[in-house]
Amino acid sequence: MRILLEPSLSKKKILVIDQAEKNKNDRTWCFWEEEPGLFEPIVHHRWNTFHFKATHHADTLSIRPYQYKMIRGEDFYRHVLSYATSFPNVYFLNERVLKVYTEGDKGIVETQNGIYAAAYVFNSILFGDLSAQVRAQKKYLLLQHFKGWVIETATNCFDADTATFMDFSVSQQYGTTFMYVLPVAPNKALIEYTLFTEQLLPKEAYDQALQAYIANQLNINDYTILEEETGIIPMTNFSFPGHEGKIINIGIAGGQAKASSGFAFQQIQRKTAAIVQSLVQRHHPIVKETLADKKFRWYDATLLHVLHYQKMPGDKVFTSIFQKNDTVAILRFLDNRSDLLTDLKIMSTVPMHIFLPAALKEIW
Ligand SMILES: Cc1cc2nc3c(=O)[nH]c(=O)nc-3n(C[C@H](O)[C@H](O)[C@H](O)COP(=O)(O)OP(=O)(O)OC[C@H]3O[C@@H](n4cnc5c(N)ncnc54)[C@H](O)[C@@H]3O)c2cc1C
Repeated sequence: MRILLEPSLSKKKILVIDQAEKNKNDRTWCFWEEEPGLFEPIVHHRWNTFHFKATHHADTLSIRPYQYKMIRGEDFYRHVLSYATSFPNVYFLNERVLKVYTEGDKGIVETQNGIYAAAYVFNSILFGDLSAQVRAQKKYLLLQHFKGWVIETATNCFDADTATFMDFSVSQQYGTTFMYVLPVAPNKALIEYTLFTEQLLPKEAYDQALQAYIANQLNINDYTILEEETGIIPMTNFSFPGHEGKIINIGIAGGQAKASSGFAFQQIQRKTAAIVQSLVQRHHPIVKETLADKKFRWYDATLLHVLHYQKMPGDKVFTSIFQKNDTVAILRFLDNRSDLLTDLKIMSTVPMHIFLPAALKEIW
């Protein structure tokens, strides 16, 4: 969509290949931003207040000037596809991609039905076994895995202006574990059971945790499950190749999931905007990593190190940060937008004897 919005690129011939038709509500994206973004027309719900909860701490926090926004996958796909299909130079194929590579000055895509060549291939497929690739680089890999239910309750149970951004008061027996409660109406909310661990849980464990939380923490007994979503997002300090010849890796395959939180939506938007800007200004899509990008990758690797070696439980780390810092500063930090002074202030609120050795190990 960003390419098509750019007048000097909007007439380029583009072929979009995806094995799925992208017409299902297979995910819900939440992210925070200060200004209206490109997808403002399809924001499904927004919150100005966060509730943060842990075993011995709870607080309700204003996030202004930020808003936490929700976009439903279904709306996103419809919005982007209806715009893109109005261009006669954009073509669509529903095929499974087998591999992508560079040959001469072309990027090549091989599918089960054919071979396609282009000046550039923007690839969002994670090929191969990521955990083997991570091991080969001697890096860490945690999985952010989750299951969410959209529930409708018989009576009004939620404050639709407040999102529970992390409730760590749930059992931490498997590792860093929390719930999101994202109400879109007084009687409707997405509740998501989320873990940062190395192993997935048995399927039924996610349902059991959701059931128990809704009954025992939210005290809701009469509800209907309207929708479900599940996901696994890699949280890793693995160096994803940004580009390989004419193949430009984007999205999670381009390393755009933040290693310490799994948030990817805004990072992907910023990266694709930077790629389009580079195409316009420099006539190529290769975007170099900035010093700030490297700084935040180092911070993320430090937290992964602490969690991987179990030097401090994740719930304690996040609780300490939320208890002792301004929420807006935390959001800027988690969004890779904070300055060094803010970073240092936030870092001073986690135990130095744990984080400093981890940070020093990771910088080498
Ligand atoms: C349920 C869920 C909820 C999420 N919620 C949030 C959130 O709230 N906030 C946030 O910041 N991030 C969130 N994420 C993480 C991240 O933003 C999404 O995963 C995002 O969709 C990643 O974009 P992507 O382009 O890398 O991959 P995708 O959006 O998954 O796109 C990859 C595409 O490649 C296609 N594909 C895959 N393999 C092949 C193949 N071999 N041949 C052809 N096509 C193929 C797929 O069909 C898919 O359309 C969530 C992820 C999930 C799964």
